[in-house]
Amino acid sequence: MDNGYEAPVWNVIEYVSLFGIVLIHEFGHALACRQVGGMANQIVLWPLGGIAYVAPPPRPGAVLWSIAAGPLVNVVLVPITAGLWYLSYRSDWTMEFPDVDRYLWSIMIMNGMLLFFNMLPIYPLDGGQIVQALLWFVVGRATSLVIVSVIGLIGGCGLLVLAVATQSWWMGLIAVFIALRSGAGFQQARLIRERLALPRHTDLACPHCKEPPFKGDFWGCDQCETRFDTFAHRGVCPRCAARFDETACPECGRHSPIGEWFPSGTPTPRDERPA
Ligand SMILES: [Zn+2]
Ligand SMILES: [Zn+2]
Ligand SMILES: [Zn+2]
Repeated sequence: MDNGYEAPVWNVIEYVSLFGIVLIHEFGHALACRQVGGMANQIVLWPLGGIAYVAPPPRPGAVLWSIAAGPLVNVVLVPITAGLWYLSYRSDWTMEFPDVDRYLWSIMIMNGMLLFFNMLPIYPLDGGQIVQALLWFVVGRATSLVIVSVIGLIGGCGLLVLAVATQSWWMGLIAVFIALRSGAGFQQARLIRERLALPRHTDLACPHCKEPPFKGDFWGCDQCETRFDTFAHRGVCPRCAARFDETACPECGRHSPIGEWFPSGTPTPRDERPA
C-alpha cells in the first residue's frame, strides 16, 4: 500500500499499528468474557482482522458485554488518536516530520473505519451480535439468532453484489464469510432449541456460568462404558464405582469439581457404592 510516506518504513509501522489496534480490540472481547465468568483462551489474527474465541455464559447480559467490549476499545481510541493527530497538526510536525503527521492521520482514520465496520448490524460482525444479544432479552436465544442470521444472509449477499460491482476481492471474501456464518446460524439455532428442551437439574448450577446441568444419561464411564447421569450419582459410576471428580460444563466448557455444582451445605456422600 502506498500512502505517500517519504520513508517507506512508515508503511510497515502503519501496518503493525493496524494489527496492534485489532489485537487490543480482541483483548477487549476476551477480558470482558472472562470477567463475566466465560472462557476466552485464544485470539487469532489474520489479514482481514482478528477473532477472539470467546464463550461467555449463555445469558444475554453476559454476551452483550463480551461483544460490546471490543468496539468500546475503538471508541476509547477515537479521542486518543484524534488528540495525537491534532497535537501534531497544531505543532510544526506537519512541516518538519510530514511522515509522523501522515501516520497519525492514518491511524485515526483506520481506527474509525474499524469501529464503523464492526458496528454494522450484520451478523456475525460485532454490531450484529450486539443486536442478537439485545433481541435475546425479548424473544429468547434461538429466535434472536434466527433473526440476525436472516439479516446477516441478506447483508452478506448485498455486500457480495457490491464486491462484484466494485471488483473488490477482499470485500467479496468478507461477504462470503458473513453469508456462511449466517447460514451456520440457522443450524446453531436449531441445536440451541434442542438443548433448551432437555431436562435440567434445576437445583444444581455450574460454579462458573451458573447454568443448571443436563439431567439424563449423557456421561459415559471410560472404565466400563456405562452411560449414566454423573450428577445423579455424584461423579461415581453406578456400575463399577469409578470416580469422576471433575465435570466439564456443556455451556461454558470449564471443568469444575463435582461437589461445587451442588448448593453449599449439601453433604458429600463419601462411601457411595453401587447397590
Ligand atoms: Zn470484535
Ligand atoms: Zn463404570
Ligand atoms: Zn458453565
